[in-house]
Amino acid sequence: MGNGFELECLSCKYTMTILEGVGFMYYKTNVFYGRESVLNNKKCFEKPLIDDLIEDKEILKMTKELLSKGAEADDYAYGHVLQVCSKCNRVANNFYFKLKVEANAFYEPNYKCDFCGAPMKTKHDCEYSDNLNCPKCGGEMKHTDFRIYWD
Ligand SMILES: [Zn+2]
Ligand SMILES: [Zn+2]
Repeated sequence: MGNGFELECLSCKYTMTILEGVGFMYYKTNVFYGRESVLNNKKCFEKPLIDDLIEDKEILKMTKELLSKGAEADDYAYGHVLQVCSKCNRVANNFYFKLKVEANAFYEPNYKCDFCGAPMKTKHDCEYSDNLNCPKCGGEMKHTDFRIYWD
């Protein structure tokens, strides 16, 4: 379940494809835990997808620590989201998730802007009028006609 669209910078022409939602290959085990498989009679370990999905090193470290202490990933609350910097409006396509740490305690990643360090805010149903800025040059970004959907 998800969709994707494309943003293009009016200044430097940088384009980025923003994915929202969960890809069909993203089973919870593959995403958070990795798995063992047998290849040519040899056991090997496939690393969890979060190694690639979470670009922020500190958030990745914290996540792995919590998982190793028994925190559980919420079944449906994970996937790609469009995030926008609360200060400079630069956009990023970050991987959002929620871990149940204790009965009533949850962990959610707080991504920071690569450019200015301010907290990133998740945008749902972003609109054409939204102020979205280019991560490369800070210029204004606009939606292109490109859209994809998947089940
Ligand atoms: Zn740009
Ligand atoms: Zn920023």
